Amino acid sequence: MKEFEYGIIGGGPAGYSSAMYLAKQGHSVVLFEKDKLGGTCLNRGCIPTKSFLHSSEIYSELVNAQEYGITAENIKFDFSKVIEKKDKTVEKIRRALELAVKNSGAITVYGEAKIIDSNLIQCGDETYKTEKILVATGAKPREIKGLEFDGEFILSSDDILSLKELPKSILIVGSGAIGIEWARILSNFGVEVVVVEMAEHLIPIADIEVSKRIERIFKQKKIKYYLNESIDKVENKTVILKSGDSLTPDCILVAAGRIPVCPENNGYEIIGDACGEIQLAHYAIQQAKYIATGIPYNKALIPSIIYGTPEIAWVGLREQDCDTTFTSKILPVTALGKAWCDDAIDGFIKLIVKDNKIYGAHIVSKEASSLIHIVLTAMQNNINADKLKEQCFAHPTYAEGIFDLLMQM
Ligand SMILES: Cc1cc2nc3c(=O)[nH]c(=O)nc-3n(C[C@H](O)[C@H](O)[C@H](O)COP(=O)(O)OP(=O)(O)OC[C@H]3O[C@@H](n4cnc5c(N)ncnc54)[C@H](O)[C@@H]3O)c2cc1C
Repeated sequence: MKEFEYGIIGGGPAGYSSAMYLAKQGHSVVLFEKDKLGGTCLNRGCIPTKSFLHSSEIYSELVNAQEYGITAENIKFDFSKVIEKKDKTVEKIRRALELAVKNSGAITVYGEAKIIDSNLIQCGDETYKTEKILVATGAKPREIKGLEFDGEFILSSDDILSLKELPKSILIVGSGAIGIEWARILSNFGVEVVVVEMAEHLIPIADIEVSKRIERIFKQKKIKYYLNESIDKVENKTVILKSGDSLTPDCILVAAGRIPVCPENNGYEIIGDACGEIQLAHYAIQQAKYIATGIPYNKALIPSIIYGTPEIAWVGLREQDCDTTFTSKILPVTALGKAWCDDAIDGFIKLIVKDNKIYGAHIVSKEASSLIHIVLTAMQNNINADKLKEQCFAHPTYAEGIFDLLMQM
């Protein structure tokens, strides 16, 4: 029987990060993965979607290139090549990851692992004795009653990655990060997109002003959406909404959240998506870091990003979480020279403050995914608004929008 200090089940961000951090500290670690290293994030989530998004944005920019004084004719895309590019990107990252895990000293075992008891894991014909077990088995797409995945007409976020060609039209159920990102990718490629959201606004988890701005942007981009709406039934590929409207999309993407996949909790440490908390790759990595090194993290300061044009990013309190003792300050990105140069003027930077302390940041802008970290650094390190003003922000940048906003306080 092989013996290790740590047995980690699941090779996604939670599993591979903890394996590497622990192994680098000299612990003996075995990491079990039943599919491919990198988990959902690398193989079915963060990375493939961003590769598709990038291709779709290049296409969309070229289609509109004339506005920028560039003539491009006969612009087309070959979806099989878009897939090829995505696959190559994922493979390259996976190979680098496999090497990094190996170099850390952790041993990867491919196969489905089963916990036999608190110190024993079975994988294939082999039994592994471990002092500690970490469960990092991830999550899977949530099915909705009446909209069970069939891989052809009703798709999960996994199924949509296997499409060999794009549909002409799609109905997306749910406007969380996954639904919104796919709406943007597909719309860039010219697919007719309709989003159905049961809440009052798109991206119900976001600050209300962010949701409203995205609704406006979706209207401009002719991405149709229904709010306070849900699907009553699907009959012969016709979708009947609760309101009575009927739609006939080529397919449906159900993006209604993800449910943890995890063995019965018998006191094992569960990390990442499997623990059913914040289902983001960087949260999984924070948990792994904490378990392996003791470096703490603040659960209230986990940033959220939704990619596409413009990017959406936020951290901390939202407008709807705050009473009247908080103030919100907003700067439209039209105030920024860089935004005009990039023709990216639809968006804003918003800070929520009280007594000079920053409690929340909400950004709809090009580069929002990076900008949010400036405010996050301040929030994490108790740097108040006055102190942050002392920093020099370069010009012309989007970051100087944060400075401009601070100077209004
Ligand atoms: C379409 C999409 C886009 C996303 N985009 C983003 C994004 O931009 N940013 C972001 O932060 N997050 C994003 N996410 C979420 C992100 O992918 C997850 O939060 C992250 O992958 C969670 O990591 P994890 O290690 O907990 O689980 P996973 O990445 O799901 O890994 C779990 C692993 O465990 C393995 N496993 C399960 N059971 C066993 C077993 N018994 N034996 C062996 N192996 C097993 C699985 O095969 C899998 O590889 C996205 C998700 C999706 C679906």
